[in-house]
Amino acid sequence: MINGSWLPGWGTAIAEPKSPVRQRTLQRTVETQGVGLHSGKLVSLRLLPAAANSGVVFVRTDLENREVPARVEWVAQQELAMSLKRDGAQVLTVEHLLAALYATGVDNVRVEINGPEIPVFDGSSRMFLHLIDEAGIKNLAAFQSTLVVRRSVRVESPKGDRFILIEPSDAFEVDYTIDFNHALVGRQRVALDVSEETFRNELSTARTFCFLKDVEAMRARGLALGGSLESAVVIGENGFLSSPRMKDEFVRHKALDVVGDLALLGFRVRGRVVAHCAGHALHADLVRALLRDHAAWTIETATPHLSGFEHAIATA
Ligand SMILES: [Zn+2]
Repeated sequence: MINGSWLPGWGTAIAEPKSPVRQRTLQRTVETQGVGLHSGKLVSLRLLPAAANSGVVFVRTDLENREVPARVEWVAQQELAMSLKRDGAQVLTVEHLLAALYATGVDNVRVEINGPEIPVFDGSSRMFLHLIDEAGIKNLAAFQSTLVVRRSVRVESPKGDRFILIEPSDAFEVDYTIDFNHALVGRQRVALDVSEETFRNELSTARTFCFLKDVEAMRARGLALGGSLESAVVIGENGFLSSPRMKDEFVRHKALDVVGDLALLGFRVRGRVVAHCAGHALHADLVRALLRDHAAWTIETATPHLSGFEHAIATA
């Protein structure tokens, strides 16, 4: 989506897409308020239209409008949620908003918040889709850039029991498996082509989840302070404290998370993600490993002012 000039050497492998897609932004500004999952702070959230090639940029209006671009180089914390930090300005829990923006093809948007965390709402991407729908979508003259995976890149946990990889595919696909040693969750898998339609129908309403036994420990560390039975599926020893919306809501939420986390690439992506018991930390590791391995991908883009979408020429 973005002009990727921050990526050293990216321009060495540019190809012309068969059917270029225009970059998008919002038609108008929308705003709402909500509580952050981990900080517990009430935050006003505004989504504003932005120019082509500007990408998704978070703006801390309470900190002299300091800007934090939605890119992996600014990932500061990735344990329980994906959080960014730049120049002392933090933005916690960006993934559910980024997933909704990616799925709707909104490449450029200014996200203003007056506090440290994106509101959690119901723990899914549903409210963010509502906001995007309310704002409307506008096509821009510039075309999207897509990172096309040419060979597999894989990262795994130290023991090798959890991993995530991305491999070549004709589409952006996610194949996610979780395997929790808990009777109410167990082993679940979801595999799908991620399009706006499938994201809306299959993933967007899946909520974040946690185990009751972990909640007290998280709160002792100052986390999950804004969590409630409305913002997460809470799983007790013998039953749910808040019921799942669907039986496999847990793995669907993981797939939603990985869409949001991969948006930190700063490009559209074409490849198949296969994940097994991964989480935000491995998702971020994959994004970093992929960007480092220049031989593993090419960039497809088109230049709007050239007739016939002539091959863009690397100028690096
Ligand atoms: Zn999540």
